[in-house]
Amino acid sequence: MNEHESIPTFKWLGGWPCLDFVDSKNWDSHEAKYERFHHYPDLVWWNHQAGFLSDVEVETLLEPAQQQPARAQAVFERGMTLRTEIHRIFSRIAAGESLAESDLAGLNHLLLDESISSTIIPAGQGYTWSWGGEANALERVLWPIAWSAAELLVSDKLGRVGQCAGESCGWLFLDTSRNGSRRWCEMKHCGNRAKARRHYRRTKG
Ligand SMILES: [Zn+2]
Repeated sequence: MNEHESIPTFKWLGGWPCLDFVDSKNWDSHEAKYERFHHYPDLVWWNHQAGFLSDVEVETLLEPAQQQPARAQAVFERGMTLRTEIHRIFSRIAAGESLAESDLAGLNHLLLDESISSTIIPAGQGYTWSWGGEANALERVLWPIAWSAAELLVSDKLGRVGQCAGESCGWLFLDTSRNGSRRWCEMKHCGNRAKARRHYRRTKG
């Protein structure tokens, strides 16, 4: 097995799982310089790093994915569609727009998947989702993401969803600042670039 050689690293700036998932590519840039997902195992590793899959569960998914490449690819593509759908949903919410039922259709379709059969189990001091279905169901990498989006949509935190003000960024976050003043995905990235641009324009003008 050599898949461990290429474990990707992800950024965790969104403050909510489904927003972290969305913050894994350049949304508004045509150059697509930043893209963290290339094939099915990347979804497994994302879930692992997000705390949704244990080490053992990672293995129970990577093995069958290797044996069923076509099915793994189909789940991967569904995951990338889900990412686009979640990005559209929360970009519109961040912009203060309301959603049409059709905006939620893809997400709802996934939530209706009866193989998910989620239950609540104790975890540490609190509780968490436990996913039913077969342990090696390749689709299970999509469920925590879909549930995370559903939970955010019905939560009172929804008004705190924001979008980075950086050019060619499009990343989303949950603004946990006291006065709701967060503007950037990452100050040291988009924030500083905007500052440098302002400085350039000032000195030019
Ligand atoms: Zn940004």
